Amino acid sequence: MAVTEIFFLQCGFLTLDRSIFFTGVDIGQPMKVPVCAVLLIHPEGPVLIDTGLNPDGLTDPEGAWGPRAKLIKPDFTDADLIPNRLKEVGLKVSDIKMVIITHLHWDHTGGLRFFKHCPIVVQREEYRFAFNPDPYFALQNMRNHFDFPLDYQKKDGDQMVLSGISVLKTPGHTPGHQSVLVKLVSERFYLFTGDAILTRENLDRKIPSTNNWSNGLLLENMYRLGHLSQLLGAELIHSHDMNQWETLKKSPESYR
Ligand SMILES: [Zn+2]
Repeated sequence: MAVTEIFFLQCGFLTLDRSIFFTGVDIGQPMKVPVCAVLLIHPEGPVLIDTGLNPDGLTDPEGAWGPRAKLIKPDFTDADLIPNRLKEVGLKVSDIKMVIITHLHWDHTGGLRFFKHCPIVVQREEYRFAFNPDPYFALQNMRNHFDFPLDYQKKDGDQMVLSGISVLKTPGHTPGHQSVLVKLVSERFYLFTGDAILTRENLDRKIPSTNNWSNGLLLENMYRLGHLSQLLGAELIHSHDMNQWETLKKSPESYR
């Protein structure tokens, strides 16, 4: 068994300075990036990777994101909320069998509140750190995004969570960041990097972003994912790559 179909769900956009994404260069150049989630259709049920932006931000950005609301400038609409994206492909929130969270940052966990009925797969280290972050990193972990009575299924390292779907522990951006390797029945591989590789340009230029817990670990895992994609012929899909996003088919269109 493997994944039969993949949908890319558009969850909004963020505008920020390029120097946040590329440390030490491109200062003062604005950059618009997508926020996305991925829906995998699997014989055992649909699986969601990441959950987009906090719906409260539509009406109360400062309430949802605090002072970061002004810095990041989220741009999204009702259509970009996960329940509405699922509706677009004929699914309800309650149809989702499992949610995999790459990491617990605010732009990946905004829709977690909708998924109290199914397991939430996260690395144990990520879960531990999100509740007790290092002070210099605490602003990124917003408890109003993930501190709900959810069925967190904590993993230690690389594991196959369903046939054809594996999580790979790729720390650096956060202590327990994970990426997701997916095999389709068509034998194609996709490697969802999450924020371990924000954009293809980070990999090509060998430049980490400024918002990492550990740049050393990030670079190590960025190169590891790059090598793995070459070995498997897997397509790397990044969380925030506008150039790539523009070329991908978005839901309700899909890949098989
Ligand atoms: Zn992100």
